Amino acid sequence: MNIILFGPPGAGKGTQAEKIANHYNLPHLSTGNIFRESIKNETSLGKKVKAILDAGNLVPDETVVDLVASELYKSEYNEGVILDGFPRTVAQAESLDDYLEENGKKIDFFITLSVPEEELVNRILSRGEGRSDDTPEKVKTRLQVYRNETEPVMNHYKAQGAVKEINGVGSIEEIFGRIKDTLG
Ligand code: AMP
Repeated sequence: MNIILFGPPGAGKGTQAEKIANHYNLPHLSTGNIFRESIKNETSLGKKVKAILDAGNLVPDETVVDLVASELYKSEYNEGVILDGFPRTVAQAESLDDYLEENGKKIDFFITLSVPEEELVNRILSRGEGRSDDTPEKVKTRLQVYRNETEPVMNHYKAQGAVKEINGVGSIEEIFGRIKDTLG
């Protein structure tokens, strides 16, 4: 089962992706986590993307697509994957479509978590994960980037009829319950 977990920053993608991963025994692939880990370990990828993450901007498509392609190639993703934070541009979605088609795979569920913008900001500013991009100014940038570059990805998948919109307001368990109802 291949799932895309989609939504604005602060919608709870990371939290729910981990719960889905545990419940359905699927590997969780978060591009944001890979970038943060690379920055922490001061790898060449980390050095390349640090200033971009700090600013709340998007890493160039080519870098992200190369990263995801080299990950998905691993055998641990043979049975499926839960993608969290990717694709984030229409170009990334198109690359993913090509990759899946070439490998005889498809996206089974595109789940988008909807949360009002005011709540997103409150959640991010109070989550205390120590992320360099969780400041009021960076959150504003990230939401703008989401609206301009990432939201159109949803229309791309709507055209394929794969989109399931889930109310992302409530407790972690309530939201996970809605996701399970959708995934069956
Ligand atoms: P996230 O943990 O998903 O909120 O991602 C944190 C940051 O990593 C984003 O603000 C971007 O700078 C970068 N990033 C993560 N995934 C992508 C992606 N698919 N495309 C471009 N940049 C990304």
